[in-house]
Amino acid sequence: DDGAVEALLGGLNPAQQEAAGTTEGPVMIIAGPGSGKTRTLTHRVAVLIAAKKAWPSQILALTFTNKAAREMRARVTDLVGDEAKGMWMGTFHSVFSRVLRREADKIGFSRNFTIYDSDDTERLLKELMTRYGVDPKRVTPRSVRSAISGAKNAQVGPDEYARLAGDPFTEAAARLYAPYNAALRQANAMDFDDLLGWPIRLFEQHPDVLKEYQRRWRYLHIDEYQDTNRTQYVLAKLLAAEHRNICVVGDDAQSIYAFRGADIQNILSFQKDYPEAKTIRLEQNYRSTQRIVRLADAVISGNTKQLDKTLWTDNSEGDPVILMEALSERDEAQKVERTIRDLRSRSGIGWSDVAVLYRTNAQSRSIEEALRRGGIPYRLVGGVSFYQRKEIKDALAYLRLAVNPSDEASLLRVVNTPTRGIGGKTVDQLRAYATEHRVGLWQAVQDPGGAGLSARAAKAVEGFGFLVSRFASKAQTAPADELARELIQETGLLQSYRDQNTPEALARLENIHELLNAVAEFAGGDPSGEPRTLSEFLQEVSLVADVDRLGDDDNRVTLMTLHASKGLEFKVVFVTGLEEGLFPLAKAAQDPTELEEERRLLYVGVTRAEEALYLSYARSRYRYGDQQSSVRSRFLDELDGDDLLRTESGGRFEARAGRFEPSAGGTGGYGDMSPDYWKRSLRPDSGPKRKTKRVASGEREVVYDEGESAIVPGVRVHHRSFGNGKVLAVEGAGERAAATVFFNSVGQKKLKLAFARLQVV
Ligand code: ATP
Ligand code: MG
Repeated sequence: DDGAVEALLGGLNPAQQEAAGTTEGPVMIIAGPGSGKTRTLTHRVAVLIAAKKAWPSQILALTFTNKAAREMRARVTDLVGDEAKGMWMGTFHSVFSRVLRREADKIGFSRNFTIYDSDDTERLLKELMTRYGVDPKRVTPRSVRSAISGAKNAQVGPDEYARLAGDPFTEAAARLYAPYNAALRQANAMDFDDLLGWPIRLFEQHPDVLKEYQRRWRYLHIDEYQDTNRTQYVLAKLLAAEHRNICVVGDDAQSIYAFRGADIQNILSFQKDYPEAKTIRLEQNYRSTQRIVRLADAVISGNTKQLDKTLWTDNSEGDPVILMEALSERDEAQKVERTIRDLRSRSGIGWSDVAVLYRTNAQSRSIEEALRRGGIPYRLVGGVSFYQRKEIKDALAYLRLAVNPSDEASLLRVVNTPTRGIGGKTVDQLRAYATEHRVGLWQAVQDPGGAGLSARAAKAVEGFGFLVSRFASKAQTAPADELARELIQETGLLQSYRDQNTPEALARLENIHELLNAVAEFAGGDPSGEPRTLSEFLQEVSLVADVDRLGDDDNRVTLMTLHASKGLEFKVVFVTGLEEGLFPLAKAAQDPTELEEERRLLYVGVTRAEEALYLSYARSRYRYGDQQSSVRSRFLDELDGDDLLRTESGGRFEARAGRFEPSAGGTGGYGDMSPDYWKRSLRPDSGPKRKTKRVASGEREVVYDEGESAIVPGVRVHHRSFGNGKVLAVEGAGERAAATVFFNSVGQKKLKLAFARLQVV
């Protein structure tokens, strides 16, 4: 009702109100950190429900982590009550894996399909490499995985990929790509990229299914839009095509996932796709002190290709931002530890108010040590996470087999774990049988007599097959926790660790019990009281990112990479390791485009802080097996003037001038992103006159100038150093025209046409 809507909008400032109140038609909010983008999105969803414009089940909100989705759901529930339960909220991966489970039969999978992580994928690829005569010593499974992943993200299929191959590595990868997909299908499994790629194919092949989802989700929301990749962009566009009720929020200055295929151009494309879109700017920062906002502003102003945004705050001036200089990484960690302790005794902050951020996972070790010595409880996000531990992956493989016995990666993982007399030779024989009869390994396991195994081996295989099929027959009906407990008991895993009886083995044993607890908790935990299956548990586990398991109630300091900190906020933030070669990374220092991404990463880091911010660097650091001396980061020297930083003793920070070349314009991925271009492109009526041409594939409508008409999406081109590639997108005109091209050799690249001299092949 009206009162409720009023009250909801009352919690927002006028610009935010406009965004939350504009429920029909496309809306884009591009605004700086802490300006309430996520809050606005949350309120907008609540308004839709309170105003009865939509049933909760008609609302879809896509977030960057599952944790963010849970928070949003909790907040909407706070705002409008239990009614909110039916909303669809989650990451792209979790929402679309749900869709795929419902529609699996339409694309030839069954709904209990397994989700393969990079480990599983590499295991499968290694297996295929032996079969297809690719030497794993010369071409690593990891490099093939990443090549195929890049191709999938760019929507380049096996045939196209093979046509583009032009060197020994990409030829090898091309040979494996189609068999890899076939093997996934045979195993009833999907890799991470498939979770986004298959829905696109599903929607393209079944327009009726697409229609159904377009009607189901009448209101689309995407947070952190700047970090969506191409497939995510395509999915969003397909779903919004009919009703065009799509609201995206993001910040180009916080785009930090280009290395994983995220494409900042999606923001510009939004303007093109929805010329009627309402663009809203938010300028007030509610998160941080004046000093922190000023420092953040100084950081990002080092970038030449960032959209100009105003950010101001009403918050207090706050304490000065402190720069801590340390002698070594050990010393740095101790300073961090001491400072946290001081703050706690002086101002009574909780441990969970503090985050320590770093550029690379390896840096956590020294910080962990210092905190442990100091008795400060902490939580590590990233690194070897719980679900990546060997014993956990082994136990999960058994659970996965029970749900989907065709899951080959899991089968190979545990067929002889714990040892049960099924050695490499036996597996080879099973494999030969499977190849010969064109069946999966699971079928071979069920017919050990047919595979010509020795009597002993056949007996062992039979026992294993028996174990799996017995639980498989119960998997659909038995309660998840009971099934898991019994199965793990019977695998002998627990016994084998008990027998080893070393401290390490006992720790592993503990971890498996912890996993069983998690299953039990999950099985009983559906808010609507419906029992949940093992299959649902496994899906959840496959998709949790580490940030997702950050418990809020736990009072601990958070340790994580800068990447993982996106979207979060903490009273006190430490950004550590500000040294040349580390932050920015050495390879980024050479490349203006990458350097700007590193600077945005620092921007993300410093803008997580609400009240206190500390930057630190060490004059020497243990790296690559050596204590090496280091130079403080250029990013610090860029912060001269305006009294932005203080030393620990309260003194003024003196930057060194002229140490580094100012970062040059460059022609890299941001070639088209000068503020000028932005201003032009955000105004639909400006810019040179263009001709529009529609190219076959649905989403690829492209605008180009006369004279450049040869380079259009879908065309195959040759580049003198990158070899053959396929054009994915073209934007800009004249001197500014640039093409996004997928090259087998290097993946996706953005090139200025004026310089790249691409040849159509
Ligand atoms: P980021 O870019 O880092 O994701 P954001 O733009 O999404 O930031 P939010 O996390 O939504 O920002 O908001 C930052 C903080 O400011 C939150 O604690 C939020 O509750 C608060 N906030 C935002 N808008 C308002 C408002 N109008 N009144 C009070 N608090 C607000
Ligand atoms: Mg946010």
